[in-house]
Amino acid sequence: MLFKTVLRDNVSYLIKRSLHKNVCLSKRENPIERTFRIISSDIQRTFSKIKNFRRPQLVSAIPTYTDILVVGGGAMGSSVAYWLKEKTNFDSFNLVVLEKDMTFSKCSTSLSVGGLRQQFSLPENIQMSLYGFEFIRTLKRRFGPEAEVNFTPHGYLVLASEEGAEQLIDNSKIQRDLGASNIILNANQLKDRFPWMNVDGIELGCLGLEKEGWFDPWSLLHILKKGAIEKGAQYIHGEAVDFKFEVKEASNFQGAEEDYYCPSEVVIKLANGQLINIHFSLCIIAAGSESGKIGESLNIGTGKGILTVPIPVERRKRYVYSFRCQGEPPGLNSPMTIDPTGAYFRRNGLGGDFIAGLSPDIEDEPDTSNLDVNYEFFDQKLWPILANRAPVFNAVKVNSAWSGFYDYNTFDENGIIGSHPYYSNIFLATGFSGHGIQQAPAVGRAIAELILKGRFQTIDLTRLGFNRLLLQEPMNEIQII
Ligand SMILES: Cc1cc2nc3c(=O)[nH]c(=O)nc-3n(C[C@H](O)[C@H](O)[C@H](O)COP(=O)(O)OP(=O)(O)OC[C@H]3O[C@@H](n4cnc5c(N)ncnc54)[C@H](O)[C@@H]3O)c2cc1C
Repeated sequence: MLFKTVLRDNVSYLIKRSLHKNVCLSKRENPIERTFRIISSDIQRTFSKIKNFRRPQLVSAIPTYTDILVVGGGAMGSSVAYWLKEKTNFDSFNLVVLEKDMTFSKCSTSLSVGGLRQQFSLPENIQMSLYGFEFIRTLKRRFGPEAEVNFTPHGYLVLASEEGAEQLIDNSKIQRDLGASNIILNANQLKDRFPWMNVDGIELGCLGLEKEGWFDPWSLLHILKKGAIEKGAQYIHGEAVDFKFEVKEASNFQGAEEDYYCPSEVVIKLANGQLINIHFSLCIIAAGSESGKIGESLNIGTGKGILTVPIPVERRKRYVYSFRCQGEPPGLNSPMTIDPTGAYFRRNGLGGDFIAGLSPDIEDEPDTSNLDVNYEFFDQKLWPILANRAPVFNAVKVNSAWSGFYDYNTFDENGIIGSHPYYSNIFLATGFSGHGIQQAPAVGRAIAELILKGRFQTIDLTRLGFNRLLLQEPMNEIQII
């Protein structure tokens, strides 16, 4: 009995002492104990981070608040989510990616032909695509041995008529200055190198010598999405149908003349039709061809002042045809060829199949209410160009075809990257028209830099910001599709 009492008293003394010690640590600890405690707690924290590293977040419940909301989980949205999480700790902030179609079957990313080239005229586009190549080259190092996008290295061949020859030379120089490798070939050199080609009307061609090719865009999207989830992003299946605003009254801000409506909540339609709201601090619009519509629900384009300027991004349907030629096809070394008319073709696999496409004239833009393919467009518009450039394509059989929506920027056909000039908590990563998949890694990294560091750190994309729309300063590619 006595023994029990002594034991109980001792235990209770020890518990009290340890509790007391925890509360008054800073006052009572001796320096050696304190150093030891800090080191051991740091080690424990490091171990718990290592344990959590790459562990998928098992949060399935829909939160009512997220620090960062990304609208659209295609290549851009998933890249933004991946990079924001990659550049910070696993649990530094909540990040929700909102995606209305988790099959990704109709988004631009999945229906893209996955071309990667440095043959642009704008330094920003060249730099982003160079990084796109670098990202793909080091994909396994970053995401593990199973990360595979089946990159086929192959140069682009951009052909120019007499009229465009000088510009082609200028473009090739800018590309080389920035680290791309290419060669200018005259008509005779083109004929020697590509005997199947009809060089009538061709003055020069610029052939990419490295860091160009094509890859599987769907795989890239899923690698980025998986990477984002493993680092703590949460994907929610639902459609952003509206936004709500928090009113900041002008009377509370010196010099402010009007109340400021700060976007603070997204209204989401879930797959079962239920409407829910999520509050957010920051929102990134990466909704591809739907981005203009998302802008409207934020009054971008329908409001006053700066808000009169819309996000000029809309759907434009583009057809891709897969065909086989009846005669001896251009060899395996046939490049991704871009005709001066804008028509392009490249081999598809090693079995003699090719794919080709052409943007229609503006007055013939197809209906965008569906993804139906117009086979007459091939017969009437595309095939005559192909057959002229490669006479072996005189007899071809179309095996299959598909169409997809370009996230088309009607202002200047280039990405809009950065924060909105009126809403400081709204960012944009949209409008890449025909070249977004190759730029997704660079754009995600750029948006993460902007949000986390307040400025672009690797590639300066300031000129591709929304301000160019306000200033009416288009950033057009010169003579490049
Ligand atoms: C036929 C074709 C060929 C192409 N070829 C090339 C090429 O060779 N090289 C190249 O670099 N690029 C190419 N592109 C362009 C490239 O595919 C796109 O620029 C890029 O994929 C855009 O990615 P994104 O994530 O912005 O858009 P998307 O892939 O369209 O993703 C946007 C996502 O947002 C979701 N979303 C939209 N609205 C909402 C909403 N309200 N709520 C929730 N989610 C929403 C959509 O469901 C979609 O999944 C091609 C495109 C097409 C169509």
